[in-house]
Amino acid sequence: MKINEQGTCFKCDELFLELFRCKFDERGNWVLICKNCLEESKVNNIFFQYGGETWKSKK
Ligand SMILES: [Zn+2]
Repeated sequence: MKINEQGTCFKCDELFLELFRCKFDERGNWVLICKNCLEESKVNNIFFQYGGETWKSKK
């Protein structure tokens, strides 16, 4: 069984070793986004909710 070590960011669609779960819009869906998008999304965002780190590759 193969385990992917990277996940795709919901916002920028790039592959990352680390993704964070959050809600960032009025739909309130949980999505996985990278740290850059996380920082960007939470600025002045009343919908933002942080759900914790859920994806991290093992060394
Ligand atoms: Zn991203």
